[in-house]
Amino acid sequence: MPGARVGVLALQGSARLHVAAFAELGATPVEVRTPADLAGVDALVVPGGESTTLSLLLGSSGLRPALEDRVAGGLPVLGTCAGMIMCAGEVLGGRPDQRSVGALDITVRRNAFGRQRESFEADLDIDELAGGPFAAVFIRAPVVARAGPEVEVLARLPEGPVLCRSGGVVVAAFHPELGGDLRLHQSFLERI
Ligand code: GLN
Repeated sequence: MPGARVGVLALQGSARLHVAAFAELGATPVEVRTPADLAGVDALVVPGGESTTLSLLLGSSGLRPALEDRVAGGLPVLGTCAGMIMCAGEVLGGRPDQRSVGALDITVRRNAFGRQRESFEADLDIDELAGGPFAAVFIRAPVVARAGPEVEVLARLPEGPVLCRSGGVVVAAFHPELGGDLRLHQSFLERI
């Protein structure tokens, strides 16, 4: 949907580059901070940042029930890094009071790549993206430890899946907004 209103959750973390990416692709990006902002969007990006903080802010902003409702109604969501953690059904290594939204049936492990690999880049083969490998930036990234039967794995590293989709929900363990390659944003937009 070319003119789609794509919300970018802007409570914390790296919202700005997602906004710029969707603007460049001809969509209408909308920063989402309140339930009223969320009500008007056709899709939502949950960006990277810190999932424990995002979880707290979803509560204090009043967004959590509104977001859970929209997700249950089939809202397309792109969750990246901490956003992938927020979309998961189950989180390993989370804080006890950390709560995800359960937008797709995956279990994620936080900070899965160990100290030496806190931050790294990897060329991912993503079958459905034409034009060669995707240079993916991982920053204290999670990995998918279990993917349910409905979940398509679109890319993986030796540690496990790092890009998955279930219906309209796409989750990436990396930061596709860094590095200037907009193919993942584009394919998300095309499916809205
Ligand atoms: N390690 C962070 C978390 O657990 C995610 C890091 C990121 O979003 N780059 O929330």
